[in-house]
Amino acid sequence: MKLRFCGAARAVTGSCHMITFDGGSILVDCGMRQGADAKSEYGEGDFPFVPGDIKALLLTHAHIDHTGLVPLLVKRGFKGPIVSTEATSKLCGIMLPDSAHIQEQDAEYQNRKNERAGKPLVEPLYTSQDVENTLKQFKPTVYGKIVDICPGVRARFTDVGHLLGSSAIEIWVTEGGKTTRLVFSGDIGRDDRPIIKDPESPEAADYLIMESTYGDRVHEVSTDEEKEAEFARVLKNGIARGGNIVIPAFAVGRTQELLYYIKRMLVNNTVPGLEKVPVYIDSPLGIKATRVYAACGAECYDDETKALARSGDLFEFDTLKVAETADESKLINEAKGCNIIISASGMCDAGRIRHHLKNNLFKATTTVVFAGYQAVGTIGRMLTDGAKKIKILGVPVMVNADIQRIQGFSGHADQRELLNWVDEIDQKPAKIFLVHGEDSAIDALKDKLEEHGYNVAVPGMFEEFDLESGEVYATETKLVKPAAGKEAKPSKASNIKAELKRLMVALIDAIQDSAKVQDLADNVSELADQLEQRLK
Ligand SMILES: [Zn+2]
Ligand SMILES: [Zn+2]
Repeated sequence: MKLRFCGAARAVTGSCHMITFDGGSILVDCGMRQGADAKSEYGEGDFPFVPGDIKALLLTHAHIDHTGLVPLLVKRGFKGPIVSTEATSKLCGIMLPDSAHIQEQDAEYQNRKNERAGKPLVEPLYTSQDVENTLKQFKPTVYGKIVDICPGVRARFTDVGHLLGSSAIEIWVTEGGKTTRLVFSGDIGRDDRPIIKDPESPEAADYLIMESTYGDRVHEVSTDEEKEAEFARVLKNGIARGGNIVIPAFAVGRTQELLYYIKRMLVNNTVPGLEKVPVYIDSPLGIKATRVYAACGAECYDDETKALARSGDLFEFDTLKVAETADESKLINEAKGCNIIISASGMCDAGRIRHHLKNNLFKATTTVVFAGYQAVGTIGRMLTDGAKKIKILGVPVMVNADIQRIQGFSGHADQRELLNWVDEIDQKPAKIFLVHGEDSAIDALKDKLEEHGYNVAVPGMFEEFDLESGEVYATETKLVKPAAGKEAKPSKASNIKAELKRLMVALIDAIQDSAKVQDLADNVSELADQLEQRLK
C-alpha cells in the first residue's frame, strides 16, 4: 500500500493525499493552494494522477484549502462518491458555488486584459456548472459511523472541533487479507470554542497523517466565558462612543461565532443597550452559512449551544438584519446612530467590508473590532498595526476610529494541543507524517513528537511512501495534464461565447475611442468583419 502527498506537503494549503492499494486509489481532500503556496512551479490542475481512475474522495472539512479543487477533479473526469459529514457537505454546497463565481469573475477580468493585449483568452478553472455536477456526487455520513467507501476501504469520521462538520478520518484499507488503519487528522481545533464540540482523538492508528499549522506556537488559553466577556467589553465601549461598530469576519465560521455571543449577551442581558442596536450581517455567503449553522445543531453543537438553542432560534433575534443584495448593503450607510455591521472578508482585502471601512474609519465615534489573525500586507493588518491613514478602494482615508482586537478565536490547535491530541490516541501510530504547515512549524512539532517517542516523517510535494517497505518513491513526478483536444481546444459553443465576450469588450473600446458617430460606425463595421473571419 502506498501513500502519496499531492498537496500541503511542506506547505499550509492545497491538502490532497492519495492512498493506493490493490483495489485502486482514493483521495483524502482536494484543496486549493492559496496565498504564497499558490506561487509554485505546479499549475492548479497539475494532478499527479488521472482523476477518472480515483475510486472515491473523502473530505475532512469544507475549508477551500481542503475542497477548492474538487470541482476541477470532477471536471477532469472523477466520477466516484465524495464522502463527508452532513455539515461539510452542506457548507460545500454554498462555498464551492462561491469559489466558482470567483473563478469565473477572475477569468472574465483576465480576458478583458488579454483581449486588449492581443493575448489568447483563458477559461475559468471551473464553472458553476462544474460545481453543480460536483454537488451531486456527495454522499454525506454522520460522525462515529463506520461506512463502506469502496471494496477494501471503510472509514469513520470523528469531530475535531475546527469548523462545523470538521473531522479526522480513520480509514481501514484491506489488501491481501491484511487491514491497515490510517488516520488523517484534518485541521485540529481547540477546546472551548463557541458552538462546536471539543476535538476528539481516534482510539488507534497504524499511520497518522497530521496537520502542523501552529506546531511552533503556544496560544494564550481563553475560555468561552472569557472570550464573551472581552467581546462584551468592546461592544459596551463601542455603544458608548455612539457610532457604528464594524466587525470584519470570515463569512463561514467566525460570523456565526460572533452572532452566537451576541445572542448570549442578549439572552443574559450582559450589555445594557445592546437590545436597541441593529445587528447587520452584510455578506451573502455569511447569511447562507448562518442558515447551515442553524440547520446542523443536532449533530454538531456542544452542550452550551444546545442549551442556548432551546431558548429560541440560535441565530435569530429582533434586531438582526441581513443585507443580501448590494442595494441592501448600501442602505446600511443611511442607518443612524450605533449599528453593529459584520461583513467579509475577515482581513479586509476583499468584499463589502471595504465599503464600510471607507464610510466609517474617519469618524471618531466608530469602533472596528478584529477577531482573527491578520496576514501581513492586508488592510486588517495595517489597521491592527496602528496605521493612521490608509487607502481603501483607491481612496485615502484617515483612521480616527477606535481599533480593537479580541483574542482567542483561533480555529487551530497550538503545539501543546496538537501533542495532547496525538498522546490521547491509545494505540500509537508506527509513523506520523507531518503536513499542512510552514517549515518552521513542521520542524518544531517534529522535534516535540520525537521527544514523545514517535517516529516522524516529513513528506515533500508529490512524494510517495510504500507503507510495507518504508521506501520513499517518486520525488520525480509525471504530472497528468488535461488530455489534448479536450480542454486545450475549447468546444464550438464555448468558442462562440468567448468571441461574443471579446466583441463586447472591443465594442466598448470602440465607443470610447470614437470621437464622431461616423468613426463609431466605421469601427463597428470593422469589428463585424473581424468576427465573421474568426468564426469561419
Ligand atoms: Zn481548515
Ligand atoms: Zn487547512
